[in-house]
Amino acid sequence: MPIYEYRCKDCGRITNVFVRSVSSAVPEPTCEHCGSASVDRAISKFAVARTQQQVLEDYGDPSLDPGSEYRDPRQIGRWVENKFEQYGMDLPEEARDMIDAARDGEFPKPLDEP
Ligand SMILES: [Zn+2]
Repeated sequence: MPIYEYRCKDCGRITNVFVRSVSSAVPEPTCEHCGSASVDRAISKFAVARTQQQVLEDYGDPSLDPGSEYRDPRQIGRWVENKFEQYGMDLPEEARDMIDAARDGEFPKPLDEP
């Protein structure tokens, strides 16, 4: 299902609009956060690249609270999956592999260990 992403000019937050198919008419969206009609569709490669960068930055957040993601193996990567889903992007293959491996009990090694 295609997802169109809009960024609000007033509050800067993202509104995702789901459509049934790419050929469907896209409704004029309003910001789901503040109700503003001043939204820009985020479709440029530049916008996508920035979004991916933001996701990667967010990706690091759980390290601030070690263990929070690892108490239940089924929860490993859930946060990351949700994040990518929120941005309407496919999970990078390497992240997918890492999450699957971790769920199998094969925890990824910290980068600073050989
Ligand atoms: Zn807004």
